[in-house]
Amino acid sequence: MRVERVRVPIPIQALGHVNAYIVEGNGKAALVEAGMYWAEGFEGLARAVSQARKGGLCSINMIIVTHFHVDHLTGLPLIEAVCPTEAYMGERDLATIRRGFTGYFSSVLETYSYFGVPRLELDEMMKHHWVPRLAKIYDEVADMGVRPLRGGDKLSLDDIDLRVLEVPGHTPGHIALVAGSIAFTGDSLLGNITPHVILDGPEGDPLGAYEATLRLYASMTGVTAYAGHRDPVPDVASRAQELLEHHRSRLAEVEALLRSGVQEPYEVAKRLRWRTRAQSWDSMSPYERYFAIGETLAHLRRLEVEGRAERVEINGRILFRPAQH
Ligand SMILES: [Zn+2]
Repeated sequence: MRVERVRVPIPIQALGHVNAYIVEGNGKAALVEAGMYWAEGFEGLARAVSQARKGGLCSINMIIVTHFHVDHLTGLPLIEAVCPTEAYMGERDLATIRRGFTGYFSSVLETYSYFGVPRLELDEMMKHHWVPRLAKIYDEVADMGVRPLRGGDKLSLDDIDLRVLEVPGHTPGHIALVAGSIAFTGDSLLGNITPHVILDGPEGDPLGAYEATLRLYASMTGVTAYAGHRDPVPDVASRAQELLEHHRSRLAEVEALLRSGVQEPYEVAKRLRWRTRAQSWDSMSPYERYFAIGETLAHLRRLEVEGRAERVEINGRILFRPAQH
C-alpha cells in the first residue's frame, strides 16, 4: 500500500489546510477526503494528484469522505464535475445531508437558543458560518448518489482492504478507515488539536459517543493515524488517552463553575478558557463562538447524563446546577 498526503488549502484561517490522502493498492486507488468547495483548494488537490498519479484525479477509483464538515466534503461536486467517481461516506452523516443540511444547521442553532444563547449571537453565527453559504453545495451532494458506509464494511483496493469504523462524536456519523497499522481518522482523532464535539439537540449526548470512540481508539495499539489536519499521529492509543483525560478535566472544570453559581449555559461558555488567538470572548469570531458554545453544551449535557448535574427551568430560562443527591 502506498499513501500520499495532500495538504489541500482551505479558507478557514485557523486550520489553513485539510489533509486528503491518496491511497494506492496494487492497481486501484482511493482518495480520502474531498477538500472544500473553493477554487484554490481544488486546484491544489488536482495538481497534487496529477503529480502522484498518471491520469490525475480521473485515475482515482473511489472517494471516501470521513464526515460532513465543509472542509472535508464540499469539494466533492467539483471533483465529480471533472471525473465522475464512486463516492462514499458514513451512513448517518449522509442521511443528515439528505434530510437537508441547512435544516440540521438550523436545529443546532435552535438547540443553542433553547439553552439561552442570545438571538444576536445566533444571528452572527448564521451570517458567518460556512454552512448557509454552501447550502446549495450540500443539496448537490445529497443528490449525487453518494453511497453509505457502515461499521465493518470493507472497500477493496485489490490487494488491500479499507475497513470502516464508526467513530461518532465530532459528527454523528463520522467514520474512519483502517488498513493494517494505519487509520485514516478524519477529525475524530487529531494530533495537536482537540476535535470539536458540539451538542446538536437538547437530548443528545455527543460527548458520551465521543468518549466511546476514544476508548475504541485507546484499544488500538501500534496504529498510526493519518488525520484530517496537521501531521500524522504516531500512536493512536496514547493520543486517545490524552483526549479522554482532556475531557475528564474539562467536565470537572464545568462542574466547578456550576458549584460556584455560574449556571446559565451561555455564561459557562464565556467563563471557560478557549484555545484561540483571541484575548477575550468578545474578540472571538462568531465561528469560534459557535464551537465554544456547542462544546460547552456537550459537556453540560454529559454531566447531566452522568448524574452530576441537573437541568432546571427557572422563569423560562434553562440552567444547569450540581445534582442534589
Ligand atoms: Zn470536522
